Amino acid sequence: MKLLCPNCRTEMEPVVIGGVEIDYCPSCHGIWLDEGELQELAKYDAKEFRGVEQILMPPSTEEAQGGLSSSVSERICPRCNVKLYTYKYGGNSDIVIDGCPQCGGIWLDAGELAKILNYMRELDRPLTPEEEAIVRQALTSSRLRMKALEDEAVGKSFLARIANAIVNLIG
Ligand SMILES: [Zn+2]
Ligand SMILES: [Zn+2]
Repeated sequence: MKLLCPNCRTEMEPVVIGGVEIDYCPSCHGIWLDEGELQELAKYDAKEFRGVEQILMPPSTEEAQGGLSSSVSERICPRCNVKLYTYKYGGNSDIVIDGCPQCGGIWLDAGELAKILNYMRELDRPLTPEEEAIVRQALTSSRLRMKALEDEAVGKSFLARIANAIVNLIG
C-alpha cells in the first residue's frame, strides 16, 4: 500500500538510498522517514543519493509557495492518521520538521534532509583550537559567556557543538 504525502496528498513512491527504503513524494519532493531511518541515512555519503538528488535539493520558489499554502497543522501521519506536530530538529537547530507522536516517523520537506545531514556532520566535527579557546573563556567568565553567546558570528551550530562537547566531557 502506498502512503499518501502528508503535505500534498500525492501517493508517495518507495525509493531506496544505500539500503534504506524511504517514501518519496514525486510531486512536492518531500520524504517520509519511519523511526530510525534518518539515523540510517546519516551513515551514507551524499554520493549514495545519485539518481535521487532532488531529495537533497531545496524546492524551487514555485514549489516552496505551494508547500506554504498547506498549513503545517493539517499534516497527517501517513501511517497512523494522526496530526503531526512541528519541532526544531535537534532541539536548537533552525530546521523545523514534522513528527508523528505515535509512530515516531518524520516528514521532511524538500531540502530539509540535506540541512539535517549538514547539521549532523557539523555537530560531529571536533572543536578547532580557536573555538576551544572561546569555550574556555566562556566557561570562566559569565560576562564573556554572555558576550560569546550573543556574538552573531558564533552561530547556532557552534553552540550546539559546545553542548555536545560538554556532554561528551561529562559523559
Ligand atoms: Zn507531496
Ligand atoms: Zn505515525
